[in-house]
Amino acid sequence: MRLTTEHWNAIHEHLKAEVGDSCFESWLLPLKLADEQPEGNTTVAVKVPTRFMRDWVIRHYTDVLRKAIVDVTGLDMTVDYIVTPPAAASAQAATPAAKAAAKAETAPKVTTKKAEKAPVSSPVLEGGNILDPRYTFDNFVTGKSNEFAYHAAKRIAESDDIAYNPFFLHGGVGLGKTHLMHAIAWQIHAQTPKRRVMYTSSEKFVYQFVRALKDKKTIDFKDAFRSVDVLMIDDIQFIAGKDASQEEFFNTLNALFDQRKQVIVTADKSPLELDGFEDRLRSRLGWGLTTEVHRPDLETRVAILESKAQNMKIDLPRDVALFLADKIASNVRELEGALNRLVAHTTLVHQPITLATTQELLKDLFRVYNRAVTIDEIQMKVAEFYRIKLHEMHSSRRSRDVARPRQIAMYLAKTLTSKSYPEIGKAFGGRDHTTVMHAVKHIEGLRDSDPSLKEDVKILENMLTTNA
Ligand code: ADP
Ligand code: MG
Repeated sequence: MRLTTEHWNAIHEHLKAEVGDSCFESWLLPLKLADEQPEGNTTVAVKVPTRFMRDWVIRHYTDVLRKAIVDVTGLDMTVDYIVTPPAAASAQAATPAAKAAAKAETAPKVTTKKAEKAPVSSPVLEGGNILDPRYTFDNFVTGKSNEFAYHAAKRIAESDDIAYNPFFLHGGVGLGKTHLMHAIAWQIHAQTPKRRVMYTSSEKFVYQFVRALKDKKTIDFKDAFRSVDVLMIDDIQFIAGKDASQEEFFNTLNALFDQRKQVIVTADKSPLELDGFEDRLRSRLGWGLTTEVHRPDLETRVAILESKAQNMKIDLPRDVALFLADKIASNVRELEGALNRLVAHTTLVHQPITLATTQELLKDLFRVYNRAVTIDEIQMKVAEFYRIKLHEMHSSRRSRDVARPRQIAMYLAKTLTSKSYPEIGKAFGGRDHTTVMHAVKHIEGLRDSDPSLKEDVKILENMLTTNA
């Protein structure tokens, strides 16, 4: 059975009832049924406007969505998310600015089309994540910071002698780990299409495992993961603290190593530094080849901008590239974001890109990155994130499910605004300033000891400060 628009509308209704209007509108309403649906009745292809939104939905609404699908269709289906900016998805009513921005946020139209077809002709096995067609070795710009990782990845992709197992790639956010991993998969597929490649995020691995346990289908799960030639798990750090999944992952690794199958893993830290991992898993992950991607130097950042501009067929003057690369040093993703906004703006006003317009626009850009956040916004977002009622931010209830979010909101109010402790206390139902101080200290402590809380705080900070 293929899902129809009627099914999808009904699923939307269920979702709305489940999560409430505001969460529904922010996160679930934008999900659209893809035009092309995969064969069979195990997977439904869904379009989502941005990658951020996809990650958010996977993280927070996987179960709700699955249940709504079961409720409506009687089928337990996996959702395949296809990132498609709204302008390309359909002629949705949008302001010209929003359209231009959405378009510039991702690849040119041609590539988007290709991405839409991915569930049908994907070179990776079903059940895994979809590959981004732009993430190839050809599109990867090298410099001192990533040369070694690039060559190692190429070596792994080009030879099937399994000399390094696992291949462990680590580094900070937005430095090209996922890009390199996809590039390996594309290359293997181009070279030896019959090699069975499974590419998945560790979150999806955990989710599928938990689901297999619930459904008593662990044998199928084990078979699926052990019968591949190449297993790629992206962002393994999210498996931290999940003991049963770690155990299963460890067993899968050993089974694959025994069969001389290639395992490739990325993470934000080196194997030995991974928090919340069992020692034997950490050490096993470090047995193969471990490489790090570092932050690119200025020269490489300029080269990356120029390469992206060329791909977009945009004329980017050298002085502008230098200026942008100099101002945005944090990571490649932000650099890309800045370039996209610049392109969106200049296309919209039909002006060529010049240093003067860039400098002018960059003022706005930085305002976007560091925009002023209010306590109200913090309370709203945190309540939404933890799915509690907004008034709990002001209430005196102390049960942990509301007290913890409230403390996190206080912490964010202290770190993201310039308000004083007493002012914050007042905004949280007239609490004493010492309560706020205590909350801030407490969350600071937890941030170091609880990886999942740390991750939550990071996501909230990102949402609040970048207009995402
Ligand atoms: P990570 O997985 O390390 O967080 P990604 O691989 O998602 O980072 O990279 C973020 C963005 O930056 C992607 O769009 C990617 O194509 C781009 N990028 C990162 N490094 C490079 C590079 N060296 N050359 C070209 N693009 C890059
Ligand atoms: Mg990544």
